[in-house]
Amino acid sequence: MPELNKQCRRFLQQFLTSGAAIAAMPSARGALLDGIIFNPCGTALPQHLAGHPIVAAAWSGIDPARYWDCHVHIAGTGDSGSGIYTSPDMNSVWHPVQFAQHEFYLNAACAKEGNVDQSYVERMRHLVDELKPGCKLLLFAFEQAHDEAGKAMPEHTAFHVPNAYAHDLVRRYPRYFEWACSIHPYRPDAVAALDAAVSDGARAVKLLPSAMGIDPASPKCDVFYRALVRLDAPLICHAGEEKAVHGAGLKDAGNPLKLRRALDAGVRVIIAHCASIGDDIDLDKGAHGSRVPSFELFARLMAETRYRHHLFADISAITQRNRSVEVFAPSSSIMSGITAYSTARIILCPAYCRCSLRANWPKRACSIAQSCPC
Ligand SMILES: [Zn+2]
Repeated sequence: MPELNKQCRRFLQQFLTSGAAIAAMPSARGALLDGIIFNPCGTALPQHLAGHPIVAAAWSGIDPARYWDCHVHIAGTGDSGSGIYTSPDMNSVWHPVQFAQHEFYLNAACAKEGNVDQSYVERMRHLVDELKPGCKLLLFAFEQAHDEAGKAMPEHTAFHVPNAYAHDLVRRYPRYFEWACSIHPYRPDAVAALDAAVSDGARAVKLLPSAMGIDPASPKCDVFYRALVRLDAPLICHAGEEKAVHGAGLKDAGNPLKLRRALDAGVRVIIAHCASIGDDIDLDKGAHGSRVPSFELFARLMAETRYRHHLFADISAITQRNRSVEVFAPSSSIMSGITAYSTARIILCPAYCRCSLRANWPKRACSIAQSCPC
């Protein structure tokens, strides 16, 4: 049983049971939610899952020593002196959606009250131990929101994980972790910060444009993009609608087509979650183009031969239920557009979603198993 604050837990149960579907079930409270909605924090993958043929097939042909989960967020409260900051809105019942999201993230990680930062790290290490020897996680720092002049805006920052903390975790646990820095391209010292992070072993840069207040198509990113190319550092960038982190809330910043600017500059770009939520303006038809699924714009980029050597897809989280089924349809025109060029460009990122292993993505990208062992 996770040591979730009792008051928060009570609120969450009331919040959740206020939904029509759960409220329709008279017994859907307390114990029923434990283990179904609240994480039971098991200590080992059950044997019927660990030995399931679909799980075995997902590992087939993969060298664990070369396996990194490339989309792992660090969470916490800063209670270890890590410098992690979370917006007060995420801890306020007056902002029920953000509050519930925050509590779910910590509950999912089996965080212990009063020792949240460290227990989160311990849970990640435990999960790595459950994988095959040699596997690692790529931990993400998470930049603050900044204004147009590149000045930090703590008041609009939902969540901040300093680069120094991500780097420190790698120093402490090199067998488990690698790290990606997060640097706002508008910062006056962005290039110097990037140089320093890469020399400290950062493997990539992680950005979430809508929450951080970044327009990836802005000329203000050009100097930063040139530095990424010079350092051969990949950019892992969210695209599509962002539901998990609010922050600056920069509308339309997640349009996948805005990443053309980075791609045309020669940056290696990894589009997180395949832009699998939301819709965006088809900017290839102008600023007043029609709105189409963000995933369709992502698929268009993936199908362009000129990007085939430096555009990659990150499939983390796309098996979650809030993604469109179009994402999974192997016969869809969207998917055939991807498979034409990108079978080798799919990055396996289970992101600890148990059901992520249901699809044999690395070998048959864009096909999906019909059943899930979860
Ligand atoms: Zn992310």
